[in-house]
Amino acid sequence: MLRKFSVGAVAGAAAISLMAAPSAAAAPAPATAPRPALATTLYYDATQAGEFKTAVAEGVKVWNTHVKNVQLVEAPQGRRAEIQIVADPGWPRATLGPVRPGGRVTVWFGRQAVTQGYNTTRIASHELGHSLGLPDAKPGPCSSLMSGSTGGVSCANPNPNATEAARVEANYRGVNTPRSPFEGRVLVDAP
Ligand SMILES: [Zn+2]
Repeated sequence: MLRKFSVGAVAGAAAISLMAAPSAAAAPAPATAPRPALATTLYYDATQAGEFKTAVAEGVKVWNTHVKNVQLVEAPQGRRAEIQIVADPGWPRATLGPVRPGGRVTVWFGRQAVTQGYNTTRIASHELGHSLGLPDAKPGPCSSLMSGSTGGVSCANPNPNATEAARVEANYRGVNTPRSPFEGRVLVDAP
């Protein structure tokens, strides 16, 4: 009984997909449909991020959900990455961007901050914020991502505030974005 029912269900599903296929193919997207905004894609390489690979993925997700003009994608094997993430024993630090496609910045995921109890996802999104061109905003409250360690050891907020997200959007709005004289410096996030 059960067998007969499942065979019938599969046959039904097949019939539906056969019917749906031609009509889907015959309906091209209307020319007036809004086009998705062209985002800058930046590749990151977390193969040297050691025990922080998950935190890096979480930090990437934070940025990809808060901005649309730039998106971070894990570099496939063999592909050059714009953002290198390296676990190391010092304080977290990063090259100040905004990095462009074909450029190169580094995030050092310093274990010293992790040992002291700072939140790893916040560290990841803060340092990636530097890659995307955000300077530090210290001292500052926990609601600010770029306040970094001054937000407090217990601060677990990994999200940029509206001003920080808008600034990254502006950094990747087009080719004629203003450049910061501090671009390319390494910012050290020791408290
Ligand atoms: Zn910083």
